[in-house]
Amino acid sequence: MQKLKIRISQSLMNALHEEQKLTGETIEHIVSRALADSLQVDHGTLFQVSTAGALVEGVTGEIVSIRTLREHGDFGLGTFVGFDGEMAVLDGHFFQIKGDGTITDAPDEAMAPFAVVTHFVPDQSFALDPFSSIADLVGQLDARRESENQFYAVRVDGTFKTMKTRAVCKQPVGQSLSNAADSQAVFDFADVTGTMMGFWTPAYARTVNIAGWHIHFLSDDRTKGGHLLDCAADGGAVGFQTLNDFRIAIPETAGFLQAELGGDPTAAIDKAEH
Ligand SMILES: [Zn+2]
Repeated sequence: MQKLKIRISQSLMNALHEEQKLTGETIEHIVSRALADSLQVDHGTLFQVSTAGALVEGVTGEIVSIRTLREHGDFGLGTFVGFDGEMAVLDGHFFQIKGDGTITDAPDEAMAPFAVVTHFVPDQSFALDPFSSIADLVGQLDARRESENQFYAVRVDGTFKTMKTRAVCKQPVGQSLSNAADSQAVFDFADVTGTMMGFWTPAYARTVNIAGWHIHFLSDDRTKGGHLLDCAADGGAVGFQTLNDFRIAIPETAGFLQAELGGDPTAAIDKAEH
Protein backbone atom coordinates (compact mmCIF):
# COMPACT_ATOMS: atom_id res chain seq x y z
CA MET A 1 0.00 0.00 0.00
CA GLN A 2 1.12 3.57 -0.65
CA LYS A 3 0.96 6.40 1.88
CA LEU A 4 -0.69 9.70 0.96
CA LYS A 5 -0.29 12.81 3.10
CA ILE A 6 -2.38 15.84 2.09
CA ARG A 7 -3.93 18.99 3.54
CA ILE A 8 -7.73 19.28 3.43
CA SER A 9 -10.21 21.89 4.65
CA GLN A 10 -11.76 21.75 8.12
CA SER A 11 -15.22 21.25 6.57
CA LEU A 12 -14.03 18.22 4.56
CA MET A 13 -12.37 16.84 7.68
CA ASN A 14 -15.60 17.33 9.66
CA ALA A 15 -17.58 15.58 6.93
CA LEU A 16 -15.08 12.70 6.96
CA HIS A 17 -15.46 12.27 10.72
CA GLU A 18 -19.28 12.41 10.37
CA GLU A 19 -19.17 9.66 7.72
CA GLN A 20 -16.82 7.63 9.91
CA LYS A 21 -19.20 7.90 12.88
CA LEU A 22 -22.16 7.00 10.72
CA THR A 23 -20.68 3.97 8.96
CA GLY A 24 -17.94 2.77 11.31
CA GLU A 25 -15.56 2.67 8.34
CA THR A 26 -11.95 3.83 8.58
CA ILE A 27 -11.01 7.21 7.11
CA GLU A 28 -8.57 5.36 4.86
CA HIS A 29 -11.44 3.33 3.44
CA ILE A 30 -13.73 6.32 2.92
CA VAL A 31 -11.00 8.32 1.16
CA SER A 32 -9.85 5.35 -0.98
CA ARG A 33 -13.39 4.67 -2.18
CA ALA A 34 -14.09 8.34 -2.90
CA LEU A 35 -10.84 8.64 -4.88
CA ALA A 36 -11.53 5.45 -6.82
CA ASP A 37 -15.03 6.69 -7.72
CA SER A 38 -13.84 10.15 -8.65
CA LEU A 39 -10.88 8.93 -10.75
CA GLN A 40 -12.99 6.17 -12.29
CA VAL A 41 -10.70 3.41 -11.14
CA ASP A 42 -12.76 0.30 -11.72
CA HIS A 43 -12.89 -1.19 -8.23
CA GLY A 44 -14.95 -4.04 -6.87
CA THR A 45 -14.56 -5.94 -10.15
CA LEU A 46 -12.83 -9.28 -10.35
CA PHE A 47 -11.43 -9.97 -13.80
CA GLN A 48 -10.51 -13.52 -14.63
CA VAL A 49 -9.13 -15.23 -17.72
CA SER A 50 -10.04 -18.90 -18.35
CA THR A 51 -11.17 -21.22 -15.55
CA ALA A 52 -9.74 -23.40 -12.80
CA GLY A 53 -11.40 -26.39 -14.48
CA ALA A 54 -9.52 -25.63 -17.71
CA LEU A 55 -6.23 -25.41 -15.80
CA VAL A 56 -6.91 -28.81 -14.23
CA GLU A 57 -7.45 -30.19 -17.74
CA GLY A 58 -4.13 -28.76 -18.93
CA VAL A 59 -5.35 -25.75 -20.96
CA THR A 60 -2.06 -23.94 -20.38
CA GLY A 61 -1.19 -22.45 -23.79
CA GLU A 62 -0.92 -18.76 -24.68
CA ILE A 63 -4.25 -17.17 -23.79
CA VAL A 64 -3.71 -13.63 -22.46
CA SER A 65 -0.80 -11.19 -22.44
CA ILE A 66 0.41 -9.35 -19.36
CA ARG A 67 -0.32 -6.14 -21.31
CA THR A 68 -4.03 -7.04 -21.42
CA LEU A 69 -4.14 -8.17 -17.80
CA ARG A 70 -2.58 -4.86 -16.76
CA GLU A 71 -5.66 -3.05 -18.15
CA HIS A 72 -7.90 -5.01 -15.76
CA GLY A 73 -6.04 -4.94 -12.49
CA ASP A 74 -2.96 -4.13 -10.45
CA PHE A 75 -3.31 -6.95 -7.92
CA GLY A 76 -3.86 -10.67 -8.21
CA LEU A 77 -2.44 -14.06 -9.10
CA GLY A 78 -2.22 -16.71 -11.78
CA THR A 79 0.28 -18.81 -13.65
CA PHE A 80 2.28 -18.66 -16.89
CA VAL A 81 2.23 -20.67 -20.13
CA GLY A 82 2.93 -24.35 -19.47
CA PHE A 83 2.70 -23.83 -15.68
CA ASP A 84 6.02 -21.95 -15.86
CA GLY A 85 5.80 -20.71 -12.27
CA GLU A 86 3.38 -18.74 -10.11
CA MET A 87 2.12 -15.25 -10.94
CA ALA A 88 2.02 -12.65 -8.16
CA VAL A 89 0.52 -9.30 -9.16
CA LEU A 90 1.34 -6.45 -6.82
CA ASP A 91 1.08 -2.67 -7.32
CA GLY A 92 0.82 -3.16 -11.08
CA HIS A 93 3.84 -5.46 -11.43
CA PHE A 94 3.32 -9.00 -12.72
CA PHE A 95 5.98 -11.15 -11.06
CA GLN A 96 6.88 -14.63 -12.31
CA ILE A 97 8.06 -16.95 -9.53
CA LYS A 98 9.63 -19.94 -11.25
CA GLY A 99 10.16 -23.48 -10.03
CA ASP A 100 13.91 -22.85 -9.75
CA GLY A 101 13.16 -20.05 -7.26
CA THR A 102 14.06 -17.14 -9.55
CA ILE A 103 11.68 -14.17 -9.66
CA THR A 104 11.36 -11.71 -12.53
CA ASP A 105 9.06 -8.79 -13.37
CA ALA A 106 7.26 -10.26 -16.42
CA PRO A 107 7.27 -8.07 -19.55
CA ASP A 108 4.07 -6.94 -21.33
CA GLU A 109 4.57 -9.62 -24.00
CA ALA A 110 4.65 -12.55 -21.53
CA MET A 111 1.62 -14.82 -21.85
CA ALA A 112 -0.58 -16.54 -19.30
CA PRO A 113 -3.22 -19.28 -19.52
CA PHE A 114 -5.03 -18.24 -16.32
CA ALA A 115 -5.09 -15.16 -14.13
CA VAL A 116 -7.33 -13.40 -11.61
CA VAL A 117 -6.84 -9.65 -11.11
CA THR A 118 -8.58 -6.63 -9.65
CA HIS A 119 -7.93 -2.95 -9.00
CA PHE A 120 -7.38 -3.38 -5.30
CA VAL A 121 -9.17 -0.79 -3.15
CA PRO A 122 -9.68 -2.22 0.35
CA ASP A 123 -13.04 -1.58 1.97
CA GLN A 124 -11.80 -2.64 5.39
CA SER A 125 -8.39 -2.62 7.03
CA PHE A 126 -7.49 -4.43 10.23
CA ALA A 127 -4.60 -5.97 12.16
CA LEU A 128 -4.18 -9.73 12.48
CA ASP A 129 -3.79 -11.49 15.80
CA PRO A 130 -0.76 -13.82 15.98
CA PHE A 131 -1.29 -16.97 13.91
CA SER A 132 0.58 -20.26 13.81
CA SER A 133 -0.73 -21.81 10.59
CA ILE A 134 -2.50 -21.01 7.34
CA ALA A 135 -5.70 -22.45 8.85
CA ASP A 136 -5.37 -19.98 11.72
CA LEU A 137 -4.74 -17.11 9.28
CA VAL A 138 -7.71 -17.86 7.01
CA GLY A 139 -9.89 -18.35 10.11
CA GLN A 140 -9.23 -14.69 10.97
CA LEU A 141 -9.97 -13.67 7.38
CA ASP A 142 -13.17 -15.75 7.31
CA ALA A 143 -14.43 -13.87 10.35
CA ARG A 144 -14.44 -10.69 8.22
CA ARG A 145 -16.48 -12.17 5.37
CA GLU A 146 -20.13 -11.18 5.39
CA SER A 147 -21.21 -14.07 3.22
CA GLU A 148 -20.23 -17.40 1.68
CA ASN A 149 -21.55 -16.14 -1.63
CA GLN A 150 -19.41 -13.15 -2.57
CA PHE A 151 -15.89 -12.95 -3.92
CA TYR A 152 -13.26 -11.22 -1.75
CA ALA A 153 -9.72 -9.96 -2.31
CA VAL A 154 -7.24 -9.81 0.55
CA ARG A 155 -3.82 -8.26 0.95
CA VAL A 156 -1.67 -9.04 3.99
CA ASP A 157 1.54 -7.12 4.70
CA GLY A 158 3.84 -8.30 7.44
CA THR A 159 6.90 -10.13 8.63
CA PHE A 160 6.34 -13.86 8.71
CA LYS A 161 8.22 -16.06 11.16
CA THR A 162 7.82 -19.06 8.89
CA MET A 163 6.47 -19.41 5.43
CA LYS A 164 6.09 -22.39 3.10
CA THR A 165 5.35 -21.74 -0.57
CA ARG A 166 5.49 -23.71 -3.77
CA ALA A 167 6.07 -22.90 -7.41
CA VAL A 168 4.94 -25.11 -10.25
CA CYS A 169 7.61 -26.09 -12.77
CA LYS A 170 7.38 -25.65 -16.53
CA GLN A 171 5.51 -28.49 -18.26
CA PRO A 172 4.70 -29.19 -21.87
CA VAL A 173 1.44 -27.37 -22.71
CA GLY A 174 -1.42 -29.81 -22.18
CA GLN A 175 -0.14 -31.37 -18.95
CA SER A 176 -2.77 -31.33 -16.21
CA LEU A 177 -2.51 -29.34 -12.98
CA SER A 178 -2.08 -32.60 -11.03
CA ASN A 179 0.99 -33.48 -13.13
CA ALA A 180 2.42 -29.99 -12.60
CA ALA A 181 1.84 -30.22 -8.84
CA ASP A 182 3.70 -33.54 -8.75
CA SER A 183 6.87 -31.79 -9.90
CA GLN A 184 6.44 -28.55 -7.95
CA ALA A 185 9.26 -26.94 -5.96
CA VAL A 186 8.56 -26.24 -2.26
CA PHE A 187 10.30 -23.39 -0.45
CA ASP A 188 10.66 -22.78 3.30
CA PHE A 189 11.47 -19.26 4.45
CA ALA A 190 12.04 -17.79 7.92
CA ASP A 191 11.62 -14.18 9.07
CA VAL A 192 10.56 -12.92 5.68
CA THR A 193 8.87 -9.54 5.16
CA GLY A 194 6.46 -9.21 2.28
CA THR A 195 2.94 -9.22 0.93
CA MET A 196 0.29 -11.86 0.42
CA MET A 197 -2.27 -11.39 -2.35
CA GLY A 198 -5.29 -13.63 -2.38
CA PHE A 199 -8.91 -14.23 -3.24
CA TRP A 200 -11.83 -16.03 -1.69
CA THR A 201 -14.14 -17.78 -4.14
CA PRO A 202 -17.60 -19.10 -3.20
CA ALA A 203 -18.17 -22.86 -3.38
CA TYR A 204 -20.81 -22.41 -6.10
CA ALA A 205 -18.07 -21.12 -8.43
CA ARG A 206 -15.85 -24.17 -7.94
CA THR A 207 -15.50 -25.02 -11.64
CA VAL A 208 -14.63 -21.44 -12.54
CA ASN A 209 -12.15 -20.38 -9.87
CA ILE A 210 -10.41 -22.11 -6.96
CA ALA A 211 -13.07 -22.37 -4.25
CA GLY A 212 -12.11 -21.02 -0.82
CA TRP A 213 -8.95 -19.04 -0.18
CA HIS A 214 -6.19 -18.97 -2.79
CA ILE A 215 -3.17 -16.92 -1.73
CA HIS A 216 0.22 -16.10 -3.27
CA PHE A 217 3.18 -14.38 -1.59
CA LEU A 218 6.05 -12.09 -2.60
CA SER A 219 8.81 -10.79 -0.33
CA ASP A 220 9.61 -7.07 -0.16
CA ASP A 221 13.02 -7.70 -1.74
CA ARG A 222 11.33 -9.67 -4.58
CA THR A 223 13.54 -12.72 -4.04
CA LYS A 224 11.08 -15.10 -2.32
CA GLY A 225 7.53 -16.08 -3.09
CA GLY A 226 5.05 -18.54 -4.52
CA HIS A 227 1.69 -20.15 -3.87
CA LEU A 228 1.11 -20.10 -0.12
CA LEU A 229 1.05 -23.49 1.63
CA ASP A 230 1.62 -22.49 5.27
CA CYS A 231 2.78 -19.57 7.41
CA ALA A 232 3.05 -18.15 10.93
CA ALA A 233 3.44 -14.59 12.22
CA ASP A 234 2.93 -12.38 15.26
CA GLY A 235 0.52 -10.21 13.29
CA GLY A 236 0.04 -8.45 9.99
CA ALA A 237 -1.80 -5.60 8.29
CA VAL A 238 -4.82 -6.68 6.24
CA GLY A 239 -6.67 -4.91 3.46
CA PHE A 240 -9.94 -6.60 2.58
CA GLN A 241 -12.17 -5.93 -0.42
CA THR A 242 -15.58 -7.28 -1.33
CA LEU A 243 -15.88 -7.99 -5.04
CA ASN A 244 -19.41 -8.14 -6.34
CA ASP A 245 -18.78 -7.74 -10.05
CA PHE A 246 -17.21 -10.80 -11.65
CA ARG A 247 -16.03 -10.77 -15.26
CA ILE A 248 -14.59 -13.75 -17.03
CA ALA A 249 -12.85 -13.80 -20.40
CA ILE A 250 -13.60 -17.10 -22.11
CA PRO A 251 -10.56 -18.19 -24.16
CA GLU A 252 -11.07 -18.76 -27.86
CA THR A 253 -8.06 -21.04 -28.27
CA ALA A 254 -8.50 -24.57 -29.64
CA GLY A 255 -7.16 -25.96 -26.36
CA PHE A 256 -9.99 -24.36 -24.42
CA LEU A 257 -12.73 -24.84 -26.99
CA GLN A 258 -12.04 -28.58 -27.22
CA ALA A 259 -11.43 -29.29 -23.51
CA GLU A 260 -13.82 -31.45 -21.46
CA LEU A 261 -14.94 -28.97 -18.83
CA GLY A 262 -18.16 -30.55 -17.59
CA GLY A 263 -16.61 -32.34 -14.61
CA ASP A 264 -16.10 -31.18 -11.02
CA PRO A 265 -12.41 -30.25 -10.57
CA THR A 266 -12.64 -29.96 -6.76
CA ALA A 267 -10.72 -33.15 -5.91
CA ALA A 268 -7.91 -32.42 -8.39
CA ILE A 269 -7.63 -28.81 -7.15
CA ASP A 270 -7.60 -29.89 -3.49
CA LYS A 271 -4.75 -32.28 -4.19
CA ALA A 272 -2.76 -29.75 -6.23
CA GLU A 273 -3.32 -26.54 -4.29
CA HIS A 274 -3.15 -27.38 -0.59
ZN1 LIG B 1 -1.80 -20.54 -6.63
